[in-house]
Amino acid sequence: MSFPIREYDCIVLGAGAAGLMCAAVAGQRGRRVALLDHGSLPGRKILISGGGRCNFTNIHCEPGRFLSANPHFAKSALALYTARHFIELVKKYNIPFHEKTLGQLFCDHSAHAILNLLLAECELGRVEHVYDAHGIEIEKDDKGFRINSAKGDFRSETVVVATGGLSIPKLGATGFGYDLARQFGLRIVEPRPALVPLLLGGSEAGWTQLAGVSTLVRASAPGTKTTFVEKMLATHRGLSGPAILQISSYWQPGKTIDLDLAPEANVLKLLLDGRRDAGTLLKALKEHFPVRMAEHLAKVAAPKGWSNLAIEVAERTLHHFAFHPTGTEGYPKAEVTAGGVDTADLQARTMEARHVPGLFFIGEVVDVTGHLGGFNFQWAWASAVAAGKAA
Ligand SMILES: Cc1cc2nc3c(=O)[nH]c(=O)nc-3n(C[C@H](O)[C@H](O)[C@H](O)COP(=O)(O)OP(=O)(O)OC[C@H]3O[C@@H](n4cnc5c(N)ncnc54)[C@H](O)[C@@H]3O)c2cc1C
Repeated sequence: MSFPIREYDCIVLGAGAAGLMCAAVAGQRGRRVALLDHGSLPGRKILISGGGRCNFTNIHCEPGRFLSANPHFAKSALALYTARHFIELVKKYNIPFHEKTLGQLFCDHSAHAILNLLLAECELGRVEHVYDAHGIEIEKDDKGFRINSAKGDFRSETVVVATGGLSIPKLGATGFGYDLARQFGLRIVEPRPALVPLLLGGSEAGWTQLAGVSTLVRASAPGTKTTFVEKMLATHRGLSGPAILQISSYWQPGKTIDLDLAPEANVLKLLLDGRRDAGTLLKALKEHFPVRMAEHLAKVAAPKGWSNLAIEVAERTLHHFAFHPTGTEGYPKAEVTAGGVDTADLQARTMEARHVPGLFFIGEVVDVTGHLGGFNFQWAWASAVAAGKAA
């Protein structure tokens, strides 16, 4: 079947969080907008996010919550469209929500409410949706952009790339955005899985026997001052849970992660104050850790003797437990992709490519990656609004 070339002012590629928001904002400015996606449905990650309740923002959103080769880049967009702005939108649609923990806002019922909000905003902007648009190719000439796809050919003054990162390929993730950036001469900060469970092996494989056990830890990584006090969870293959997902974004292959297994606690005080034997050690550990973990630690972190010094060294070890991950669970399990389009090649206020007028990159495809807790959606909204006002 052949289609006539369709003309638009702005074409947005990718109907995820960032693409939907950007299309709505541009459309509501009076721009003729088409939103193209190779999938057959919009917002698939929104629907599975936050365990189906979408952690749509975080009230403590600030630039320090993001990783990027240029930590200053995100500041402008985040300041122009804040968590408060998105909360106002959520309230306008009467979507009930609550703070779960650490400023994380979730829908009371279902993430569908957030997708419906975005679709309604697109409707207000008369956005045209084009799904199953496979094989998208783009060329630029002096009249703008020509976009070819299995769903027909388009011309547009501007193109906004919101095709996300590589996380969760089964939900349609591709490296398309990176390829397109390279095609137009933009640089890429090497993508890597982030917010992802870590794998353990070798002498640390014993931890996988504790699968299902969780405890509060303080996680850090060498070379960064950022620490996270949240839960870790042992899995059949290594470590997960919020603290581990958070620190995974900072972990570098071949390096360690450092866990304080008992933040603020003096675990072995019982030994210093009283009997010094294996039974008391286990008792002390059980006071602070789940039983299986206490039993494991009694084997791998017991003091080497019962002197004060040996006990103090063992206590220090519990607070600086160095793990040597052998890898990550990779993109199939990574909540986001760190790295991406180099922000040095984008304008911070608009997300437009510095050397390709009319071409914009927003959301996860850009080298801006949030901590766990609603920050990635806030980046999607903020970068989308910045581009939607300019594209
Ligand atoms: C399981 C899970 C839970 C999450 N929970 C949260 C949460 O609660 N809070 C939070 O802040 N963040 C969460 N995230 C992260 C968040 O979902 C992403 O950061 C956010 O969706 C990024 O938005 P985006 O629009 O940039 O990309 P995406 O949402 O990934 O959208 C990209 C779109 O582009 C389309 N696309 C890709 N390639 C092509 C192509 N070649 N041609 C055409 N279209 C293409 C895709 O089909 C998709 O629709 C979660 C992620 C996962 C995987």
